[in-house]
Order: sequence, then structure tokens, then C-alpha cells
Amino acid sequence: MSTTILVVEDEPAIQELIAVNLSFAGHKVLRAFDAEQAQTLIRAELPDLILLDWMLPGASGITLARSLRSDERTRQVPLIMLTAKGAEHDKVEGLEAGADDYITKPFSPKELIARIKAVLRRRAPQLTEDIVEIGTLRLDPVTHRVSGGGNPLSVGPTEFRLLHFFMTHTERVFSRAQLLDQVWGDHVFVEERTVDVHIRRLRKALEPTGHDTHIETVRGAGYRFAAQPQA
Ligand code: CA
Repeated sequence: MSTTILVVEDEPAIQELIAVNLSFAGHKVLRAFDAEQAQTLIRAELPDLILLDWMLPGASGITLARSLRSDERTRQVPLIMLTAKGAEHDKVEGLEAGADDYITKPFSPKELIARIKAVLRRRAPQLTEDIVEIGTLRLDPVTHRVSGGGNPLSVGPTEFRLLHFFMTHTERVFSRAQLLDQVWGDHVFVEERTVDVHIRRLRKALEPTGHDTHIETVRGAGYRFAAQPQA
């Protein structure tokens, strides 16, 4: 799955280098030269991850990081700070402002990609290409295949994304609005009952191997994917 990464970096050469490498790694790249541009892009489309330079003209990266973390809509977006500074107190300040990781310049493209992967794995595992297995249910993001106890299951594209999200976020209850944000994207306007339609289809797709029981309806709250469903 292609992830959208916003690069906020005022030095054109570094921005270009990062953008080229991220595109090459299969990511969709959005670029901003300062905090204001970044906010405009974020308002239009919530990125899956933000790479944020510390020293920016105008509002600093750290100021933007704090404002992203205090806003309900952007609070959960994984954030990696880029900086030329290596001092320990800067690292602490960055992490306290809500950054998930911190990369000191100069860094190699290889290191950057590895750090992004690690942060996504921790913060948004549904965006990685790791195979997910819960009991005998197996989902492979690379081949887009789902199987139950070794038997292939036919799952539609939206149901696949929904299942991927559920399998990487077991036990937690998600409201329909939260599922729409996470699976459909927050800039997409879809009615909440659409979620019910796709839950129904997903259950039906998992029924042949009995894995539909993983998906529990939580009355008045939403849905939960149980790692060990009640018999
Ligand atoms: Ca800079």
C-alpha cells in the first residue's frame, strides 16, 4: 500500500533528495518549505507520516510539531523530526513535542527509509507490507491474499483494507467515524452506514472458514476485532 508522506524542509536540495528517495521506495510525497505550507497541505489531505525539519523559516518545526499534537485531527499522525543538531536536549525537546523519532543530518537515504518503516510499524502497522497472522487467519499485504487455515478467501479491496486495519489493531473498539478516518481516509466523505455494509461483506467473506466471529459488534460503540473470538 502506498503511504503519503509530507516532507517539510526548507533546503531545496535536501527536500529533493528526500522526495526522490521516498518516491523510489514507493511512497507518495507531498512537499512544503515551511510550516504554513505544511498546514495548508495537511488541511487538504491528512498524510500518513510527516518528516519535519527543525529549523524552518517562520514557525519552527518544533512549533509545528506541538500544534499538530494539540489538534484532534492530526494528533495521531506519525512524526519524524529532522535536524542538524545532535545535542541531547534537542532530542528530548523533539520527543516531548510529540515526535515519534528523530533523525540527525546528514543521514543516508537507507537510514531514512529504515526509520520510516520502523515508525510506521509501531504507529500504523496497517500501512506496512508485513504479513499479519491472527490464529489461523493470514493476510499478506504484498500479494493481497487472505487465507483461513490455509484455505484462500475471496476478499474485496475495501474489505481487505478494513481487515488489515482490524488485524493490526485487535481488541480495541472503533466507532464507525474512526473506521472511516482510518480505512477510507479523513478527506473522503462517506456515510457512516457504508461501514456497516463493508463489515457485512467482510464477515461474509470470512464465513467459509469461520473467521467471521473475530468481528464483534459492540452495541452503541462500533466494532472490535477479537484476537480470540468467543466460541
Ligand atoms: Ca532547515
